[in-house]
Order: sequence, then structure tokens, then C-alpha cells
Amino acid sequence: TEQWRGKRVTVAGLGVSGIPAAKVLHGLGALVTVVNDGDDERSRSQAAELRALGVTVRLGDGATLPEGAELVVTTPGWQPDKPLFTAAAEAGVEIWGDVELAWRLRDSRPGRTPAPWLAVTGTNGKTTTVRMLAAILEAAGLRTAAVGNIGVSLLDAVLGNEEYDVLAVELSSYQLHWSPSLRAHSAAVLNLAPDHLDWHGSMAAYAADKGRVYEGNTVACVYNAADPATEDLVREADVEEGCRAIGFTLGTPGPSQLGVVDGILVDRAFVENRREHAQELAEVADVDPPAPHNIANALAAAALARAYGVPASAVRDGLRAFRPDPHRIEKVADLDEVAYIDDSKATNTHAAEASLAAYDPIVWIAGGLAKGASFDELVQKSAKRLRGAVLIGADRALIREALARHAPQVPVVDLDRTDTGAMPAAVAEAARLARPGDTVLLAPACASMDMFVNYNKRGEAFAEAVHALADERA
Ligand code: ADP
Repeated sequence: TEQWRGKRVTVAGLGVSGIPAAKVLHGLGALVTVVNDGDDERSRSQAAELRALGVTVRLGDGATLPEGAELVVTTPGWQPDKPLFTAAAEAGVEIWGDVELAWRLRDSRPGRTPAPWLAVTGTNGKTTTVRMLAAILEAAGLRTAAVGNIGVSLLDAVLGNEEYDVLAVELSSYQLHWSPSLRAHSAAVLNLAPDHLDWHGSMAAYAADKGRVYEGNTVACVYNAADPATEDLVREADVEEGCRAIGFTLGTPGPSQLGVVDGILVDRAFVENRREHAQELAEVADVDPPAPHNIANALAAAALARAYGVPASAVRDGLRAFRPDPHRIEKVADLDEVAYIDDSKATNTHAAEASLAAYDPIVWIAGGLAKGASFDELVQKSAKRLRGAVLIGADRALIREALARHAPQVPVVDLDRTDTGAMPAAVAEAARLARPGDTVLLAPACASMDMFVNYNKRGEAFAEAVHALADERA
């Protein structure tokens, strides 16, 4: 930690990763300057808190590199083409993200062995898989935490008082972009579909950033056998000698794969008894919910846990103990033989496709901010299962047009509303379209910010509307 004393570090951006990074670096003796684009009420109060500690904060100018900066630590959300980064690159100054910082600081606690990282990335399913993985590791009696978006922050996991044997780490493509020296024990890329392309610039750049998660892996690179792009990333990665490529599949597994045989999750990659051909891990019914995409998440989590040496029984116990987080295919109620499911977290078409594949027939509630997506493929793949569709939000016309093109027989109610009060109306329309045995599914395939603060609030509005409907009918 001596290396930090007097080091001039620029932290790019206040906020959830910038503020803790500034505090930690300041605590290590670095001379920290935080630069921030905004100069609003909120940033001023955050700045005041940091200044009281002795941190320099510059508001309203996130573009120019402070004089003499030796390192830039950035908030992952900052786009790589920002002038600050161009200036840093020209000056030969390194740029680290919050993950890189945590990785570099992982051995800074004296007398403590740093915990290896089991890393998970992908377009969809990261949080779920990391939480399943942590549940499995816990069932094996290991000291662990789910780290990232949900749960413990990476800096806390690395520097806090809690001691861990191994960490289950969720990594976004942004974070990976800024993590040049990160080396995981093992890592999984769950899937690759277009998302955040505005930030990365292209699909190739997005995939390359995801692929960084495999660089330097020591034991296993876990890929999705149904998504060849993930296997390509393994092939291109520079890994330690002896590191294995391990696939997961919803079908019968090949050698070095995990898969499903007759409703059983089976491991053919890490077989404990050499005379056996495969190792049974758990039943499909042990996974909550047992939807195909979620079985894939469970297999990826199991692969990472097995790579770490966890026994089969712990995989089963961990999966049984796991419960999904709110707003991820969460059953809200059964009303008159219709199931109401909240998948507000389906904020892109790839995610919505997964939940639409899990039910039949469906009354689909969709719409919001499309982020430049096209809905043709999603609608084509789901058309047969749709009883009807109810559309809300700013970009609902894009979905309406895709439905008209590929599913003209499906009744569509376009609510033509972007106010928060549209949700009860949407639920009422969906209830009207649904027949006994149907599922009303909120899987918006869009971001929520046109109507709600975030996807949590959108899901809560849905649940409230469903409960109100139940009260009305009781
Ligand atoms: P992330 O952390 O990557 O955003 P989550 O685990 O929070 O992923 O799941 C987000 C949404 O993505 C879920 O609500 C579900 O609709 C969908 N989803 C989850 N797992 C997968 C998967 N393996 N493939 C496709 N979609 C998925």
C-alpha cells in the first residue's frame, strides 16, 4: 500500500462507484481529485462530503485531465470515447475501472490470502447466476459472497472486515472494458446478444469486452454450447496452461460439458469417480423457476462451482436453497386460474424472449424505452404463444408494428399511455384478454425510465395493480 502514498489519482465521476473509490484511495494516502460532469444539487452535497475528508472535487467539468494525474479510476458507466480518456491516453496515464481497482487492492490486507474470483458475465442472467453460485458455494461450507450489482460491493468484499474463501463476482461489459489485469480463477459468459451497443460502439467491441473475462483464467472457461459466440471467445482468450473449456447445454452433455438428461442436471466435465461416465448434480425441479433459461443459469453456476472443486451434493443443496430476486419471473398471484408473472427485469429483447419461451398461452404486457432494439425476431419467435398483447410506454409503436408484421392474428391493445397510472389499466386489459390456464406476463423487453424510476418500481406497480384486481374480484 506504500505505493499509494502521494500518488495523484483522478476519479472520474461521483456516484455509486466513484465515491467509494475516492474514499478508499484517499484512505490509502493518495492525492485524489474527483472530476464530475454534473454540478447539480446532488453532486454538490456529495462533493461537500468528500471535501470534508480532504478530497479535491471538481464539479461541472469531467472532460479535462487534472494537472499531473498519474492514474485515472473511472466509473464503469463513462463511455470510452470521453475527452478525459483521450487526454489520459495521450499522456500515457493508465485508466482503471472500479473492478480493476478492487482487483489490484485484493492483496492489500496484511496477513490475509486474497480470495479467488469466480466471474460471471453475459447479456442476461448475470445476477441470477452469481446468486445461485454463491448459494452453492455456501452449501459447500465455504465463506463466500455474491458480489456486484446485488449484494456486497467489490471494494467491500476485498477490503472489508469479512474474510472470504472465494467470491462469486458479477461483471458487466463496461467493467470488463476497464479491467486490464483482472485474472479470474474461472469465468462464464452466459450468452451474447446485442445490448449497450451505443456505449461499446459495435457488437464486436461489446463481445471483445465480454471475452476479457476469460483472460488469464487458471482452471475453467465456461461457455454456452447453444451460443457459439461464447465458445469463440474462449478460443480467442489467452489462458493459463491446463485451463479447460467447459460447456453447458440444455441437451445431453458431451465430454467436458454439463447438461440435462431425463430431467437431471448432469456433469461430464468434473467426474468424481473415474469409473463413472457422468455425475448427477440435481433435478430440474430443484431450480426455481425451472424455465429453460434458468436451467442454463443453474448449469453455468454449477460449472463454476465444480471448477472450484465443490461436491455434487452441494450443487443440489445450493440450488434448492436459492430463491430468485424480485421482478425476475416472479409469480405475483393466481386469479381465476390465470397466473400473473412479473419479469420487469426483462429490459431487453433477449431477456424477454427467455421468459416468453417459458409460458403458453401468454397475455403479454410490453413496452418502454427500446434503446435502439428491433422487435421482429422476438415477436416471430413468440407469436404462436401469444393470446394477446397490451402495450404501454414511449416506444410501444415499434412493438405494435412488429406484431402487425409477424403476428397479425394476435389481438393488441395499445394503451397509448406513458404515465405511471397506465399499469393498472394494462393489467385490467390483460385480465380481460386472458382465459383460464393463461399467463399474464410483464416482460417489457424495454427499459423502464420513460415511465418509472427503474425496473423495480415498474414491477411494484404491476404487483400493486394485480393485488388491486384481486381485491376487486374477492
Ligand atoms: P442480469 O444481471 O444479466 O441483468 P438477471 O439475472 O437479473 O440478469 O436477469 C435479468 C432478466 O434476464 C430476467 O428477468 C430474465 O428475463 C432474463 N434472463 C435471465 N437469465 C437469462 C438467460 N440465461 N438467457 C436469457 N435471458 C435470461
